[in-house]
Amino acid sequence: RDDGTPRIWFDGALVDAAAPHATLTTHAMHYGSGVFEGIRSYATANGAAVFRLPEHLERMRAGCDLLGIPFDPAQATQAVLATLRANSHRDAYVRPLAWCGTGSIGLDVAPTAKHLMVTTIASKVHLAVDRVRLTVSAWQRNPSTSLPPLKLCGGYVNSILAKQEAHARGFDEALFVDTDGRVVECTGANVFAVHDGRITAVEHPDALPGITRDTVIALSGAASRAMTLTELREADEVFVCGTAAEVLPIGELDGRAYAAARVGRELGAAYADVVRGRDTTRTGWLTHV
Ligand code: PMP
Repeated sequence: RDDGTPRIWFDGALVDAAAPHATLTTHAMHYGSGVFEGIRSYATANGAAVFRLPEHLERMRAGCDLLGIPFDPAQATQAVLATLRANSHRDAYVRPLAWCGTGSIGLDVAPTAKHLMVTTIASKVHLAVDRVRLTVSAWQRNPSTSLPPLKLCGGYVNSILAKQEAHARGFDEALFVDTDGRVVECTGANVFAVHDGRITAVEHPDALPGITRDTVIALSGAASRAMTLTELREADEVFVCGTAAEVLPIGELDGRAYAAARVGRELGAAYADVVRGRDTTRTGWLTHV
């Protein structure tokens, strides 16, 4: 349909985005029993293309397996592409969500109905926010021994709290640091640092294995290893990355200013060339709509 009404993919059909209503006893609404993804499509010279779609859906499958939600990556692929086409979206944020519906008000998810939806949101071409101000969160990241770092709905309450606290103190974004002083990640992005030209991808068992992080490692040859907060503060340059954030230079960490942003900006430009299909050596990461 091309009447301009936004469409949403819901359990096998494209419907008016405003039409479906989850009932108030939806299990996921009470307990966070859902799994989502954050994916982007970009306008390329050959039409819209989704960046690293199989990798995003594989991570979603891992979350669904953990929670006992059936998930078929082939069906989800078709759902993502069909929704982008139905909305004529090119530069867009793509949000699939699988969740436990009605059937149990207890913790057991087995009796609940399982659902899948995909919504796409047109995104503006990313404007680099200059001088992002970062602060160490008073909250700890969910430890992976309690909640695996997957995109489980309930797990994101942890990120919400950290973001709220950072904003309340006048910062743009929160940095999680563990009890041993090791850097984990931000609320929705992974961390990189540059010391004397050497690029490091911060590694931590509690951090989400980011697909943008993996991409930036492939583009830069960055070494992946653990890093203390002290080492991060001593870096010449810090940047964070994620599907929504892309590659974002950090201007300040709790009063420590990073004057340099050269590596982050160069990798941001290289990333843009990849996702928009201008880097012809990396088109294998694109799924054309
Ligand atoms: N960490 C967290 C907590 C996130 O939510 C995200 C966004 N998905 C990331 C890191 C970055 O992951 P990706 O590059 O796969 O988007």
